[in-house]
Formats: sequence, C-alpha cells, structure tokens
Amino acid sequence: MRVDLKDGRCRTCGSQLDIVADDDATMTVECLECGDSYDVETDAFGDGCMTYYPAALAELMERGDDP
Ligand SMILES: [Zn+2]
Repeated sequence: MRVDLKDGRCRTCGSQLDIVADDDATMTVECLECGDSYDVETDAFGDGCMTYYPAALAELMERGDDP
C-alpha cells in the first residue's frame, strides 16, 4: 500500500514508499524509487496507527501474505 507523500517519504531519497509487510510492532516499507527497504513504527506516518497500519494489514491479508 502506497504512503502519501505528505505523510512520509523514503529516508534515503525522499521518494514515495510502499508498505510491503507489517507485524505487531513495525511496518516494513520499500521505496518505489531507490528500492531501499526498512522497518518503521506503526505510527510512523503521524496517523496514530489509525490509517496506514490497519489498511496495510487488511491489504496484506487479502493478498494472502499473512502467515
Ligand atoms: Zn528511496
């Protein structure tokens, strides 16, 4: 799931991030530009865990990536 540029950007190049995995404590993001991949807090995008974390969880579950 894509992260809006106003909410968060790649720490390396400042481009758009895609949430590729998440678990109880962190989300793994991957940069669409440079491919950098790293873990962030579940509230890393200033939404109080209310937007990206549950939406990413739901999306990953639909894709069948959930263990
Ligand atoms: Zn990047």
